[in-house]
Amino acid sequence: MNLHDPLTVVKGVGPAVAAKFKLLNLKTIGELIDYYPRRYDDYSALTPVIELTQPGPVTIQAQITSIKGRYVRRGMHITEAIASDETGSTRLTWFNQPYREMAMKRGQDYYISGSFELNYQRFAIQNPTTELVSDFPVNTARIVPIYRETKGMNSRQIRLVLKELVPEIEALVETLPETMVRTHNLMSRAEAIMGMHFPDDSEQLDVAKRRLGFEEVFQLSLASLMNKLELQQEKAPPVEFHEALAKDFVSHLPFELTGAQRRVVWQIYLDMQKSQPMNRLVEGDVGAGKTVVAAMAAVMVLHSGHQVALMAPTELLAQQHAETLHKLLEPLGYQDLVGLLVGSMTPKQKEVARAQIKSGQTKFMVGTNALIQDSVDMHGLELIIIDEQHRFGVDQRKELLSKAGHMPHVLSLTATPIPRSLALTLYGELDVSILDMKPGGRKPIKTSIESPNSRKLLYEDIDKELSDGRQMFVVCPLISESEALPASSAEKMYEQLRKRDFKHRRVGLMHGKLKGAEKNAVMQQFVRGELDILVSTTVIEVGVDVPNATVMVIENAERFGLAQIHQLRGRVGRSSYQGYCYLMLGDSGAPSKRLRALESSNDGFRLAELDLELRGPGAIYGQAQHGQLDLRVAKLTDIKLISEARQAAHEFIDSGEKLVNYSQLREQVTRLRAVTNLN
Ligand code: ADP
Ligand code: MG
Repeated sequence: MNLHDPLTVVKGVGPAVAAKFKLLNLKTIGELIDYYPRRYDDYSALTPVIELTQPGPVTIQAQITSIKGRYVRRGMHITEAIASDETGSTRLTWFNQPYREMAMKRGQDYYISGSFELNYQRFAIQNPTTELVSDFPVNTARIVPIYRETKGMNSRQIRLVLKELVPEIEALVETLPETMVRTHNLMSRAEAIMGMHFPDDSEQLDVAKRRLGFEEVFQLSLASLMNKLELQQEKAPPVEFHEALAKDFVSHLPFELTGAQRRVVWQIYLDMQKSQPMNRLVEGDVGAGKTVVAAMAAVMVLHSGHQVALMAPTELLAQQHAETLHKLLEPLGYQDLVGLLVGSMTPKQKEVARAQIKSGQTKFMVGTNALIQDSVDMHGLELIIIDEQHRFGVDQRKELLSKAGHMPHVLSLTATPIPRSLALTLYGELDVSILDMKPGGRKPIKTSIESPNSRKLLYEDIDKELSDGRQMFVVCPLISESEALPASSAEKMYEQLRKRDFKHRRVGLMHGKLKGAEKNAVMQQFVRGELDILVSTTVIEVGVDVPNATVMVIENAERFGLAQIHQLRGRVGRSSYQGYCYLMLGDSGAPSKRLRALESSNDGFRLAELDLELRGPGAIYGQAQHGQLDLRVAKLTDIKLISEARQAAHEFIDSGEKLVNYSQLREQVTRLRAVTNLN
């Protein structure tokens, strides 16, 4: 069998089974071999039922003594069972798995594995996986891989098919240089993948994960290093530093710069004086004051008569930036150099904007990415500022390079708090500055988790804030009602608040399906204080600045990521007023660790670290922002592994080894190079 063969060539896989695999995006033998388990159940460490006292993951060996399913609320199904061993009985609960009632056999021993948690005031093992003990011949491994499953295709069936592929797995070729495998004491690729699918014990599994995790980080680091080396070959026009200009700018600010802002601005000035392109990422929690930093970078370039472009991910944000920059640059007389270019402008307006860029009247273009890249006359472009986004890869740079004839300095701003150690290890190609101080006078946002039962009291409290003239955001996970998801929608919430709970207040609605101009109009109303309440989806997530808004209610908070909620709540911490963030649960179940972490910490970097710990291996950014960069095996918190793999990438380059000699490695690195640039 060949790795590119369709799965149907495997014994026992007919068209029907292949169709199920296809639902998991698995079509070939190679793809299935590469499909790592999502987690492992460890049936080697069993807990007697009587010892279940603490919440947390557990595995028991027990029989099902009773089981019953029922529908509760709209569409929600619960199966409850009692499992007993010689020491006692415990409750099991499955949500929306109605087949469980029929599937579980009475009087047979099962390994039952899941999280023992308090739910509706009762302890139970939640959504446990179950395996018949009789399916495990004596003396075999009890570490059982659990895969992402689909209807009609469970982990057991996946394991059976993989069993047929053992000869293919054992024949997998090495993808790392042999010397590296030896010096870093790694398992061979074939052994490691065997270990992932069929671990003998947890030690073997750890060694397998180490090998594959090492390889992931090695590839990423190599891609990143190669990008850096390539960029160092480029020339950029140095931007001269004028102290008097910087001082003049600062003296007109309505506030003092924080120490962190000063430090970062200085780093940028040093970078831009060099004849190599700057490639700097400024990380700063929401509200840390990144806009002023960007403005100060821009001022130096404008002074020399060259162009600056600022790209924002949304029109709303572009517009707000244009206004802010106009104000910030006014005291220097540079305000008329700022021009806006966004999709919702009429063709006529766009034409005027482009003409002004061309004639040199506009030197500081602010807009959404696509527009700016399309229509900017690049010839004097010396600085690109990219706000709040990470989608400016190698390809876009190449495009710019070919248009502009040289590589401009690039400054990226992000509130995605990547822990510093991590940013430095994984994105070695970038220089990273951290704005780790918040402007003074800000009070930490008070965050609390709320259950729907307390909604009425909460609204009374909020109404007092509104009576004081403050404003409120209400964030919902959905735009409109959905059958599939039992979550609040912005449209419904808007109607409820407007007609019932806050009928004496002015309520507005905003979401991603509104046209650009409509969104703008609503946002402007809110900014001008003509609305008390803005019901919205996460479109308000990035950047929006309304200092008078001090209250935020996040509906179905459990549906949002930790980092995302932290970003969202930053909207209500932008002034000297006390900000409040209420995390409204969808039901009265127990709040998750993630939500409790948000309640107790306001520090974006600390939360990012926590998020990583809770999520384990995987997503660097969470959400779907940057799937291509996600690590599948390596834990981002495993600093030791990361630094070792990174070291190996340096050694590889220093050794003069050529990628062409390693075809798989080359393929991966080429792919990663296109996405690894954060800027
Ligand atoms: P972010 O880092 O989230 O982009 P902004 O640049 O939008 O933050 O700044 C948030 C708010 O803080 C703005 O209203 C800005 O004028 C204000 N601000 C920025 N720097 C300072 C400072 N050093 N002192 C006081 N306020 C500041
Ligand atoms: Mg910002």
